Amino acid sequence: MGKIPRAFIRGLRRVVGRKNLLKKPTDLAAHSYDATNVSHRPQLVIRITKREQVPPILRLANRYGVPVVPRGAGTGFSGGSLAVRGGVVLLLDRLNRIIEIDPAKREAVVEPGVVTENLQLAVEELGLFYPPDPASLKISTLGGNFSENAGGPRCVSYGVTGDWVKSVLAALPDGTLVDTRNDPAMTSLLLAGEGTLGVALELRLHLMERPPATATVRALFGEMMSACDSVTEILSQGFNPSKVEFMDSETLRCVTRYLGEPPPPANSALLLIELDGSKEQVEDGLPTVSRICEKRGAAEISVARNPAEQEDLWAMRRACSPAIARIRPLKINEDVVVPRGRLPRMAEAIEGLRKKYDLAIPVFGHAGDGNLHVNIMCDPADSGEFNRAQKALDDLFTTVLALGGSLSGEHGIGLSKQPFIERELAAPIISLSRRIKRRLDPVNTLNPAKIFPSPEE
Ligand SMILES: Cc1cc2nc3c(=O)[nH]c(=O)nc-3n(C[C@H](O)[C@H](O)[C@H](O)COP(=O)(O)OP(=O)(O)OC[C@H]3O[C@@H](n4cnc5c(N)ncnc54)[C@H](O)[C@@H]3O)c2cc1C
Repeated sequence: MGKIPRAFIRGLRRVVGRKNLLKKPTDLAAHSYDATNVSHRPQLVIRITKREQVPPILRLANRYGVPVVPRGAGTGFSGGSLAVRGGVVLLLDRLNRIIEIDPAKREAVVEPGVVTENLQLAVEELGLFYPPDPASLKISTLGGNFSENAGGPRCVSYGVTGDWVKSVLAALPDGTLVDTRNDPAMTSLLLAGEGTLGVALELRLHLMERPPATATVRALFGEMMSACDSVTEILSQGFNPSKVEFMDSETLRCVTRYLGEPPPPANSALLLIELDGSKEQVEDGLPTVSRICEKRGAAEISVARNPAEQEDLWAMRRACSPAIARIRPLKINEDVVVPRGRLPRMAEAIEGLRKKYDLAIPVFGHAGDGNLHVNIMCDPADSGEFNRAQKALDDLFTTVLALGGSLSGEHGIGLSKQPFIERELAAPIISLSRRIKRRLDPVNTLNPAKIFPSPEE
């Protein structure tokens, strides 16, 4: 990592002003991590306050060969916002204006630093709905959601972030501005680019009418397979629940301890199923969902109809990550995905990993679309345990790919899955992706050393 050229800093001062160049050790430390357990310290953090500042900064970075790493809220789970080659972090969270909500066009235009939930609340006031709901929605930004193509509980019914993006205004690595309006293929090219192909500066998003009613069913099962079988049966009956979330017994133990609630019975598993639509559709669906869970052996079923009761049930789901993080110093959180009919085989395989490697592996996630968060827990200071965790991770990816699944359902590749990407993608696809990156970013300044293994990223 070379020193940042003085001329580059002088250029930056002219663009953003001295006070927006953050270089105190605390500033650098604060922007050196995301939700993975890895840290890479940038040499400088640039706080962006106007979108017009981004193209000249990218041009300067090209001229002086300085890496630039875009960053929203830093909640990513794959190391995408980390300055692995040093250089500067481009902090976009102050670009947080909701520019327009147009109820007639069912459209919102936003800056990339808008926190996901802030847009949801703003459109709900107008009777509208923005469905993508990563569990981090209270903190993550829409720019980060776009760049990772974030999913969430609702994607079983409403799809992922990309399904709600109409177009993007982005600065390419050389500073050229492109607006992909009327060109969906270009929108797709930049979507899920993990900050390597462009910096999103404005997003034009689809909205829909808010479903008038929702209800949540919570079903507690005596064992995991019955919960998995219930998911398959509910979805194969042509039902389209808006959320189908799963927690295994290890997760439930962590969550109840974290929330100060009584522990669950041994080996239990929990499903949270949300239905939405008209009041009649929801009321019609509830008995069928409850009946399927009962038939499959659910010991306890509760139904929440009003928003406060539903919020209580979903608080358990939101507590999963922090509750699990308490049990061991390192949580290797993988968001693997398999075709949902293969969830039971996946669950069996994970049980096998627990026994084989003697590790705690709590599992929860978006069962409705086969996307499970598999958390391999270990203490890096215990080399034996850490090595077993690495082997379990390797076995997990082998199993997922053998089941026809994918390494990442929503968190992206970034740094954490980079060593494994060649197992999933065929060599010609990787080569094509590298050629696109080189074409757009010949100097390799925008978020270098991500997704594809070095030396040829
Ligand atoms: C508790 C918790 C729960 C989570 N739940 C989910 C979930 O349910 N579903 C899910 O998909 N993810 C989830 N995540 C992961 C994370 O929140 C998402 O990936 C989110 O989209 C990241 O947004 P961010 O603003 O924090 O982006 P960052 O972490 O800052 O950046 C993520 C990537 O996007 C790039 N980037 C950021 N902004 C821009 C921009 N404007 N232009 C170009 N590139 C940019 C960065 O370079 C980086 O590669 C969760 C994380 C946590 C901590």
